[in-house]
Amino acid sequence: MPRVRHVVRALLDVLFPPTCAACGTYSQRSICPLCEAKLEAIGSTTCLCCGKPTLHRVGACRECRGRDFKFHAAAALWRYSGVARGVLKSLKYSNRRLIAHEIAARMAPLYARLGDCDIVTWVPMSKYKERRRGYNQSELLARSLADDLGLGAAPLLRKTRHTHDQNRLPGRERRKNNVGAFASVSSSSIAGMRVLLVDDIYTTGSTVADCAVALRKAKVAAVYVITAARTVKEA
Ligand SMILES: [Zn+2]
Ligand SMILES: [Zn+2]
Repeated sequence: MPRVRHVVRALLDVLFPPTCAACGTYSQRSICPLCEAKLEAIGSTTCLCCGKPTLHRVGACRECRGRDFKFHAAAALWRYSGVARGVLKSLKYSNRRLIAHEIAARMAPLYARLGDCDIVTWVPMSKYKERRRGYNQSELLARSLADDLGLGAAPLLRKTRHTHDQNRLPGRERRKNNVGAFASVSSSSIAGMRVLLVDDIYTTGSTVADCAVALRKAKVAAVYVITAARTVKEA
């Protein structure tokens, strides 16, 4: 049997050569070694509140001080630049489910930096957008991550209206764009739960904050945020 599997694998490789999710060149790994070397992982020296890389570990960075974020803490795997952008783009537009597993496996150790959670959920897309794309990339990440962590995953949020893509808006517009755009699905069943909220990219934190507000309306006990990447403004 192993030999048959080997032949099938070789045949599949010829028909559908595996490519790197970031640069598209032939690669047996979902991220080729050249791209792998360029990925910028965010270490554990961060602001404990928003997950921004800092010189020293701080409870709240300058941006977080005095700002009510609605969620307890956030952590991100990579800086959102170069290769990470390419990987997440291919997750978003090329339906690469395998890469979702790969990214989620790398996100899993970050969970230790956050508080214990009872359930995993994700930032929802509008029904229209999800139908057009066929899937929600944050749901793929969330479900894989939940498997890795041995937790359950469920859609706890829904989008109540269409919003513009956060990444294409200037900072001021982003806050207004999402306000009131999310609602929790069922309030009675999640009261008192600690929720791990998953998204692909953390930009200003306003999307996940708005989701956290909706979850807290349903009386969840805590919301922790984990994302594959995070934009980092250079000071
Ligand atoms: Zn590559
Ligand atoms: Zn911060």
